[in-house]
Amino acid sequence: MLVPPIWNLLADAGIPTGLINVPVSYPPPERASFAISDFITPSTAPRFTHPPTLFDELRPLLGEYVIDPPPLESPGGTEAHHMLEGVEHLTLQQARYAEHLMKTREWGFCMVVFQATDWLQHRMWDALSGEYQIYPETPEILALRERAEKLLSALDAWIGRLLAASPPHTDVFIVSDHGFGPLRQRVKINQWLARHGLLALSRHRRLRGLLGRLDFLRLRHRINRILPRPRGGGKSAPPIWRRIDWRRTRAYAATRSDMGVHVNLRGREPQGIVSPDEYEEVRDAVLSAMKELRHPETGEPILTSAFRREDLFEGPGLEKAPDLIFILDGGACNHELRLDGPLFESTTSGTWTGTHRLDGVLIAHGPRIQRAQRLDQVDIIDVAPAVLQLFGLPVPDHTEGRIPDGLLTPEAASAAAWRQPHPPDDDDRGAGVPPESEYTEDETRGVEERLRDLGYL
Ligand SMILES: [Zn+2]
Repeated sequence: MLVPPIWNLLADAGIPTGLINVPVSYPPPERASFAISDFITPSTAPRFTHPPTLFDELRPLLGEYVIDPPPLESPGGTEAHHMLEGVEHLTLQQARYAEHLMKTREWGFCMVVFQATDWLQHRMWDALSGEYQIYPETPEILALRERAEKLLSALDAWIGRLLAASPPHTDVFIVSDHGFGPLRQRVKINQWLARHGLLALSRHRRLRGLLGRLDFLRLRHRINRILPRPRGGGKSAPPIWRRIDWRRTRAYAATRSDMGVHVNLRGREPQGIVSPDEYEEVRDAVLSAMKELRHPETGEPILTSAFRREDLFEGPGLEKAPDLIFILDGGACNHELRLDGPLFESTTSGTWTGTHRLDGVLIAHGPRIQRAQRLDQVDIIDVAPAVLQLFGLPVPDHTEGRIPDGLLTPEAASAAAWRQPHPPDDDDRGAGVPPESEYTEDETRGVEERLRDLGYL
């Protein structure tokens, strides 16, 4: 992590924290009062919790806790009930562990993440929204929908129980990191870039395949030394990397989930060819290509919005963001990395029917939250500054969010007088921030594979 997460800032100020299933909280912070790692934890990780004995202590009382998400299946398949059972079990255990820890351990700040809403909406948007465009309204699908709705109701009830487990006068935020809507199709974005001459496919691929089968002269080893190495090189690199000729590729899409296109920039990319002088020219060319992309059914332009990365992001992680980010068909069209076949693939049974939207949920309640306010201009990044303010702590310079007007009561919003001095940056920045090497190569590969299974990469 490039800047200290909020739980470290709170720990610096002596506030006991509890974290359950919070993404990128691995390794579990040792200064937390209690912590259970999230689904991005390497499956080979030696310990998932803080204190390390937490599971041993609680398992006899609360039952097994599984960090891995259940296998991903689409509703309509025979495995759908199995998938739902897995999500139910995981959600129930996250809630039970959270309630128990919140009741029995010391905490001033506690953050619990439930993923069930995300899983269910990706796989069951079609039925949950009542659209029934992909899955007909059969008794089987209705039974699945009913089961999913029961889980969502149970989750609501559990949120009530967690509130009841909190001390009186606790301020509460309920936050989603995105909204949801239908997924109508996927576009093979790299195929589109290839059509516009921005990406080139490798001519060596067939030769490699042939050599794999007919290696009677043990040529493969020697030829592999001559042919360009696949980008990234490691086993976990997506298979399509091997099909791209990086020496003739100026722009490419790297994941299904970042909705972006990366420039193959010299000095930054492993086999970058675009000079810094040509960078803007390539971005303009990609943007023009995207403006020409047409909806496969309506024939209308499918590009809803386009952003240069600096329009959206800032700070030390900027270099890792895609160079351009697109919203297609209002969010209903996602990227697909595969190259073959038609340019667009419509959503069918067996694929996700829902995907993310920009607008999520933010509900705040408590003695220091203004009552009966509806705030229109609030962003998820505004939550951390508001929480720090509630603890009387200064908001660090690197924080991009701001405390929304009208969120906190006037007394809480102006409580600067009881702020404590923030520890000097030098001590603070490094404190508890895991060094890059926290993940071994194997762990990184394991996490990447899991993220790929989840559809992120
Ligand atoms: Zn999701």
